[in-house]
Amino acid sequence: MVQRRVDPAAALMASAARILVVEDEPVVAEVVERYLRRDGHQVRRVERGDEALAQFEEFEPELVVLDLMLPGVDGLEVCRRIRQRSNVPVIMLTARGEEVDKLLGLGIGADDYVTKPFSPRELAARVAAVLRRAGAAPAQGAPAERGREPLRFERLVIDPVERSVLLQGEPVSLTAREFDLIQYLAEHPRQVFTREQLLDAVWDREFTGGESTVTVHMRRLRSKVETDPSRPRHLKTVWGVGYKFEP
Ligand code: CA
Repeated sequence: MVQRRVDPAAALMASAARILVVEDEPVVAEVVERYLRRDGHQVRRVERGDEALAQFEEFEPELVVLDLMLPGVDGLEVCRRIRQRSNVPVIMLTARGEEVDKLLGLGIGADDYVTKPFSPRELAARVAAVLRRAGAAPAQGAPAERGREPLRFERLVIDPVERSVLLQGEPVSLTAREFDLIQYLAEHPRQVFTREQLLDAVWDREFTGGESTVTVHMRRLRSKVETDPSRPRHLKTVWGVGYKFEP
């Protein structure tokens, strides 16, 4: 657990966090920084992928805004390396024409994507939403979570407070979004949801990648929490409709 000093002004902002912005276009980086600071976040900016990895260690960000095309080490590789050591939320900045589904399919573990050109206001809103989901908000976030018991199943334990998942006693490394998805399904056992309903519930309607996003996330989630992903025990497909969680 990282101890944080709580600045009273920052504490008023429910989602104030340390954010690392990795972007080599100065104009874009400046605008992003200005909007995030306005929301009370502490921002550090770097222009190169290799610098991003060094700053990740030093600054210990609670969220990373990461451009895809970077000098040094590219955004995909930066994201992969971050994922090897942390579940910190990552929002990728992608150029038009780089297909979101393809990126998701690479399984690099980003939590959200914004396509350039984007409105800084929209990015700031997504940052707030991702932080809210990740439970990274200090002070205000914690009390509401108290008293929430882990969901226990035969082979799986889902802890909404720690945001952790154990498979047969072993911790499973999930992205913030993957956790939200399995938690939502497990909190509504046997209830069948369409992909559209899951997009609304888990993605807050802000994600424009479409229903295949749900399919891709479900596949990744199964590969992580099912002992036999081709014959899932918990995360069931309901053909022609969507998905359900079988307790
Ligand atoms: Ca770039």
